Amino acid sequence: MNAEIYHFKVGTFKCMAVSDGTHTYTPPTFPPPATFLFANAPKERLEQVLREHSLQPEQWIEWISPYICVVVDTGKHRVLVDTGAGALAPNTGRLLQNLQAEGIAPGDIDTVILTHGHPDHIGGNTVSEGGLAFPNARFVMWKDEWDFWTSEEAEVKLDEHAKELLLMFAGKNLPPIQGSLDLIDHEREILPGIQAIAAPGHTPGHMALAISSGGEQLLCISDAVLHPIHVEQPEWCAAVDFAPDQVVATRRRLLNRAAAEKALVLAFHFPFPGLGYVIQKGEGWQWQSIETEG
Ligand SMILES: [Zn+2]
Repeated sequence: MNAEIYHFKVGTFKCMAVSDGTHTYTPPTFPPPATFLFANAPKERLEQVLREHSLQPEQWIEWISPYICVVVDTGKHRVLVDTGAGALAPNTGRLLQNLQAEGIAPGDIDTVILTHGHPDHIGGNTVSEGGLAFPNARFVMWKDEWDFWTSEEAEVKLDEHAKELLLMFAGKNLPPIQGSLDLIDHEREILPGIQAIAAPGHTPGHMALAISSGGEQLLCISDAVLHPIHVEQPEWCAAVDFAPDQVVATRRRLLNRAAAEKALVLAFHFPFPGLGYVIQKGEGWQWQSIETEG
């Protein structure tokens, strides 16, 4: 399997998971993965769960996360969900070349939906010279999210280094799209078959998507969960989650829906291609990745 491109269908929609590359989260820039991803988890229970996932608590020192964007060809529209990280890290910013390899030029994308304003989701809005990476696209974002990142003093509750990085990316990648931007403030259809779902918590206006065609459904849950363990332990929040209480409520709503509707789910940070199903297990849930060849 090509580890950067994965084709699948949702009804008649032709879809593609496209990697923008990977980023390695490791000290000293980031806390150790268990602390970063499960900041409020009780220590003993955390260690037990990590071992169940074949992770040795003391030895798990780096979390290598892919950044997985999605292209949906509805037959009428070519939609991109999130633009990756651009030049954030040595191995990111691969989106455009991966699209190119599939015969998709930047000008072919007519709609870009941004799930939220973190660097790894908006960093590819612009090219390094500063112009728009997708010159013909209409951009869509949740209004609260746009307001948060473009306000004078975005209230980022992280250390100075992280805060500076986040604000720098927002400052570079959001103002240029303002002229071709649609803001949404309630759950509605963005395009036929593509529905916006309010999923706040990770950030103030974080958005999920339900993509439906021919009786099939893909739920793009973006960063509502960052690691498969979050599906089992929805109350364990990451250090980067803006409002933990909201994160937990949002996760429960999305996981419940995914399991009940047997929807295919795409999670941006899960092992590539990030696709799987949420299985009801007692009171909780479990992640089951799709089978991929190779
Ligand atoms: Zn992310």
